Amino acid sequence: MSAPQLSVVIPVYNEGAALPALFARLYPALDALGLRYEVLFVDDGSRDRSVALLREQFAQRPEVTRVVLLRSNVGQHMAILAAFERCRGDRVVTLDADLQNPPEEIGRLLAKMDEGHDYVGGVRQARQDPLFRRSASRALNWLRERTTRIKMTDQGCMLRAYDRTIVDAINECREVSTFVPALAYSFARAPAEVQVAHEVRSAGTSKYSLYRLLRLNFDLMTGFSLVPLQLFSLTGMLVAAASVLLYLLVIARRLFAPETYDIGDLVWDRDLLEFFLLGMVLFGLGLVGEYVGRIYLQVRHRPRYVIDAVLERAADAEPR
Ligand code: UDP
Ligand code: MG
Repeated sequence: MSAPQLSVVIPVYNEGAALPALFARLYPALDALGLRYEVLFVDDGSRDRSVALLREQFAQRPEVTRVVLLRSNVGQHMAILAAFERCRGDRVVTLDADLQNPPEEIGRLLAKMDEGHDYVGGVRQARQDPLFRRSASRALNWLRERTTRIKMTDQGCMLRAYDRTIVDAINECREVSTFVPALAYSFARAPAEVQVAHEVRSAGTSKYSLYRLLRLNFDLMTGFSLVPLQLFSLTGMLVAAASVLLYLLVIARRLFAPETYDIGDLVWDRDLLEFFLLGMVLFGLGLVGEYVGRIYLQVRHRPRYVIDAVLERAADAEPR
């Protein structure tokens, strides 16, 4: 049996409400491409009827469906990596389960790849998310643009296509917390982007709270850049230099104009300054903690995810 030309990877976390609509649109869209394809669902420890629905779908289309059931919730990006290690397509497309990325757009990504690109990212047109999410995304995109070397117009868009060489490179990485589109970008030779449509979530609710969104972006920042740390030490240096200058100024004033010296007007400034410095120190400590935390996660060498079961035909189980 020959390997599929296309693997579609879909992470699923408590998407019982959205899956029926996804199945109904995904398979016809893929059949229409006229390629040998496989769909790899990764259940990321769902506690709703997602697993039952995935089992059903596997029973209906076993020749093109594979399902990896993870034991616990490890997060969208780890779930995608679990699928990357198993998918066999020459090209791999990631997609969300909630139909926010229309599966009909996959052909457009593949067409762009045919032009010689090994990595094609989607850029959501007329994004259908709450205003808060859109403005947060814009700010975080801006921040990433300035702290990493990664050039992406829309980092939050998960409708993306990766060439086999990139997926292989990603599989070589042993990162325990990562951001797949950024990791892929660092291995891409000729990345490109295409506009893709965006729809409102078909059913269910977003799995990202403000806190999880923030965490994800710390992963992105500290996982791909040392700039935050370097910026911090730079600022520390400037502040230290400024305080030395200030000290010299105070001494000069005491020596040459003792009559204007009044402890009162300095105290007020000093309080503010101390507040500022304390804030900086705490922030810096926290920042160092982010990196130390990543190192800690990495050196534990724990398995990144535990697989409960894999649903696939025996013939598909062989490694690529
Ligand atoms: N997801 C996952 N594990 C998680 C959180 C999310 O596998 O811990 C999946 C989710 O089922 C969906 C995709 O990741 O297929 C994107 O999640 P969601 O649509 O909730 O994110 P949003 O569109 O709000 O950014
Ligand atoms: Mg979504």
